[in-house]
Amino acid sequence: MHFTLKSVAILALSGFSVGAVAATAIIRPAPTQLPRSVRPSHYDVSITPDAATAKFKAKVAIDVDVLIPTSSITLNAADLTFQHVRLVALESKARQLTATVGTDPNAQTATFKFAHPIAKGRYTLTLDYSGVIGTQAAGLFALDYDTPTGQKRALFTQFENSDARRMIPSWDEPNYKATFSLEATVPSAEMAVSNMPVTTRTDMHNGYSVVKFAESPKMSTYLLFFSSGDFERATASMDGTELGVITKRGDLSQAAFVLDQSKAILHEYNDYFGIRYPLPKLDNIAAPGRSQFFEAMENWGAIFSFEYGLLQDPSISTQHDKQEAFLVVAHEMAHQWFGDLVTMQWWDEIWLNEGFATWMESRMSERLHPEWNTALNAVPHTQHAMQVDALKTTHPVVQHIRTVEQANQAFDAITYAKGEAVIRMLENYVGADTWRDGVRAYMKEHQYGNTVSSDFWRQIDKAAGKPVSAIAHDFTLQPGVPMIEVSDVACHDGKASVTLTQSEFSKDQADKKPLTWRVPVVAQVVGSNEQTRVLVTDGQAKLTLSGCGTVLVNVGQKGYYRTLYTKDDIATISANFAKLEPIDQLGLLSDSVALGMAGLQPLSDYLNLAQATPTDADPQVWEQIAHAFGEIHDEYKGEPERRTAFDAFAIARLASIMTQVGWSAKDGELATIANLRETLIETLSQLGDAATVAEARRRYGARDNDLSATSTALRRVVMNVVARHADPAAWDRLHAEAQTEKSPLVKAQMYELLASAEDTELVTRALMLALTSEPGATTSGAMMTAAAKEYPDLTFDFAILHIDQVNKLIDNTSSSRFFPRLASGSMDPDMVTKINVYAIGHLQHSARGDADKVIAGIQNRVKRRAESLSAIDAWLAHMHRGMQQS
Ligand SMILES: [Zn+2]
Repeated sequence: MHFTLKSVAILALSGFSVGAVAATAIIRPAPTQLPRSVRPSHYDVSITPDAATAKFKAKVAIDVDVLIPTSSITLNAADLTFQHVRLVALESKARQLTATVGTDPNAQTATFKFAHPIAKGRYTLTLDYSGVIGTQAAGLFALDYDTPTGQKRALFTQFENSDARRMIPSWDEPNYKATFSLEATVPSAEMAVSNMPVTTRTDMHNGYSVVKFAESPKMSTYLLFFSSGDFERATASMDGTELGVITKRGDLSQAAFVLDQSKAILHEYNDYFGIRYPLPKLDNIAAPGRSQFFEAMENWGAIFSFEYGLLQDPSISTQHDKQEAFLVVAHEMAHQWFGDLVTMQWWDEIWLNEGFATWMESRMSERLHPEWNTALNAVPHTQHAMQVDALKTTHPVVQHIRTVEQANQAFDAITYAKGEAVIRMLENYVGADTWRDGVRAYMKEHQYGNTVSSDFWRQIDKAAGKPVSAIAHDFTLQPGVPMIEVSDVACHDGKASVTLTQSEFSKDQADKKPLTWRVPVVAQVVGSNEQTRVLVTDGQAKLTLSGCGTVLVNVGQKGYYRTLYTKDDIATISANFAKLEPIDQLGLLSDSVALGMAGLQPLSDYLNLAQATPTDADPQVWEQIAHAFGEIHDEYKGEPERRTAFDAFAIARLASIMTQVGWSAKDGELATIANLRETLIETLSQLGDAATVAEARRRYGARDNDLSATSTALRRVVMNVVARHADPAAWDRLHAEAQTEKSPLVKAQMYELLASAEDTELVTRALMLALTSEPGATTSGAMMTAAAKEYPDLTFDFAILHIDQVNKLIDNTSSSRFFPRLASGSMDPDMVTKINVYAIGHLQHSARGDADKVIAGIQNRVKRRAESLSAIDAWLAHMHRGMQQS
């Protein structure tokens, strides 16, 4: 699955639930919540959905092996009603057994009890049943959308992690791999899509057709897919595979970019993995609407995406949207191997899917689009993980998972972003070719099977000829972030000597005894072209570097650790800041703001570095500064005078860069400049810069007469500014525009904008609107999330007050995280109590992970905030005095 890091929080103060810490790899049988007596090998599914009534009828014949004699069979089922059950032995078909059915809604299981014990052997279990079609993305669900000829409804499925059981009674755990044959009865005018190509389509002459799909390869239940609707499809071919894009009718041209890119991506993956993509076709399906849980899903051969993340709408899509779409497709296509061909044994090891697909999406974007310069994105990704990983509520990458709720919660920054960062560090440690050889051997050994992490490390150890797994265990079985302290920098005979001491970066456990990691470190004297590599073991290392001068640690920023310099060293680095590579500038800025906010380094160091950043620095370096300024602005909430002083400084600094970048794109400008323009306009708007607000309003007002006023690239960002600073009249105009907007994608974005106003009354109006059917069933949750950015307390209180209505507007996979996350920006100590009351009243203990993480973030912010803001005030005062004197 894909979640986006679009709004990476530089100062994000959140954490996660405590997991069991094991310092050594443990070998154990695959966990299961089902009895081990019976195993499925094949499912024959026939389904007849009735979109109009949101119900379906179905029949499944499951080939099973009874491994231990038993008088009952238990499998997963949720919200299904059984009409008929029979079991037939494969050898003696004459003997047919019937059973009584019991269901357990809490365990999401159905148990079929037989009058007599069933002997070991092969059987077919046939079930006639019915179920419901949901309005949110879990199980089989419907999405409604407007078209010029009226409203339409399309059906889709979303099964990860544990919702196949809502459509098919099944052994719905990743380790029970089986083959699937699917048949569906759909309106004859509609296109039906599944993992495999259609083999036959029979018109029943009653308005419906029966569509049969080819048998799937052996795979996990969560990867099955089915969809039906008024779609269009375009295809291309690469290495013998048919690549497809599927959209709702009329949008096909918006998928041209994705179809084109998927060719190059498939070709790269066929080479990298050493095993060709094994299915005859691979579709990317774009659906209207959204989920609070995910953006895209890697169903084998039938990747599902919400269209906001995939389609390039010529009226509104930006450079940033294009890059995002590429990342989504590259991520989901990487899963066709990491996840689909080789699957983790149990949700404990979900990082084997998500960490690897996230690392691969970055790798592909660097490789196929060097002009986007996305190598620098590694820094914000790693920062995102370290912020979460430095709170006491964090957990190891490989964590103990017992329940479905815990599995839902495992799709988090540690699994994705820390997973990616650890892979990048270890790949850099062993070398890219060696790493690829290990990946190939792992794929070959485990194709169509299930694995644990040690299966992977065994192949990397073998390829590298050295024990990488020991380092890997330190970083994946222990939680937390190492910190490398740099000291005793000296110069002898033209060589620099330096001492590195490993401690731990923690934001909320000052007295914690640091854990120990083996940390691969790369260091260099600035200006020298020789890097020195060392593995810091047992907490300390001394090293000698070629040349004397400013010593830089974590050169290239591939390490998963923070670097803490002495006061003198950081001053030298500041003085030489312009000479550093952009990626190291980015790493230093990010480390120093995080260390500053945690009270481990003076926050003035960050502000000095931001001052030392040359105006012609890499655009992504300026994006970091803009984001950090935006978050500092947020920290000043409730302190209007002090905030105004900071804003004035930040606006002056960013406005000079904005003048350079300009509002209009120049011919042939870098992709990174286009992205920086968007970020600067957003941040200057957030800081309340009058000039930016006035220019955005002017352009918005002129849009009908002057097409250049809001070019495609500017349309959304201009609307963002207008919406943020809207008065009631402007808000009403935007609302009227949202109501008449024809594109479902743009329409959903406009409703979100209505919720992003700074005016409290307008936000409240937007929240009331979110409870109605007007915005569309899947837009309301996104509106609340948008409102919570500026008003976490108000939005949380509103959502809790209307909890029953809100629960119907979000997918059940998200419910345990949706409410706490609304409050994550709060600075009110009372919010901790409110979240606790919510958690105790509505969540099982095992589902509290996200609530605890948000609580830890708020507690840390409340504790640290006064000191951080005083440090910034003092720096600003000092700078003003300096300016007056000079
Ligand atoms: Zn994924």
